[in-house]
Amino acid sequence: MNRFHQHLQRDLQMQGVGMTSQRTRERLVQRLVDQGVSNQQVLDLISHIPRHLFLDEALSHRAYEDTALPIGHGQTLSQPYIVARMTEVLIGAAAKLDKVLEIGTGSGYQTAVLSRVATDLYSVERIKPLQDRARQVLRQLSISNVRFHHADGGFGLPKLAPFDAILSAAAPAKVPEDLKQQLGEDGVLVIPVGENEQVLKLIVRKGDTNEFHEQILEPVKFVPLLQGVTR
Ligand code: SAH
Repeated sequence: MNRFHQHLQRDLQMQGVGMTSQRTRERLVQRLVDQGVSNQQVLDLISHIPRHLFLDEALSHRAYEDTALPIGHGQTLSQPYIVARMTEVLIGAAAKLDKVLEIGTGSGYQTAVLSRVATDLYSVERIKPLQDRARQVLRQLSISNVRFHHADGGFGLPKLAPFDAILSAAAPAKVPEDLKQQLGEDGVLVIPVGENEQVLKLIVRKGDTNEFHEQILEPVKFVPLLQGVTR
């Protein structure tokens, strides 16, 4: 294959063909609207970011269904609805999104969405091969404002704190105190919490005090926030 064909193939892959076409994506966006997602910026991002690139080829024909899908290592690519919802909540609640922390890079799909609303995004993943793959896909999409960290995100990134916003894509049994402490002035944390029964929580620091306003948004289902890292 010569360079021209390589580029052509890449362009087709990026646009998505057949089941991954723009029309299929528009149908997904309509479903999200029907479920109550209303932030236009978020809807535009979902309609433009090629979710099929974050999946194994064997699953890419299902990329625009509104479901979580396996990405290996016992982990899942989050359901588009929840990615949209969490991003919408973050945009609505945060005073600014200059410096944002994501916990649980996974496939990198939520990372790609967040990278378009944050100025600088830090994304932590405990499973090295998932991180490597996500980094590759984001590079392919020319996304360059993301710094990847291989670490246990339950402790946040203390050396890089404070953050304007923190989003976790994995659920701890209870909200880690470290994450709250790494919020800057009026900083917001969006995080699923709980073991069998989980809820999505929005936690907002009151100004520069050590007081937090906590709100339960809705029931959710996430993979657990695990301890330690794996190679
Ligand atoms: N938004 C991602 C969700 C992936 S699932 C996507 O759409 O692909 C959640 C991810 O959190 C998994 O990749 C899992 O390995 C990671 N994770 C779980 N506990 C973690 C921890 N303590 N630190 C960092 N990442 C963690």
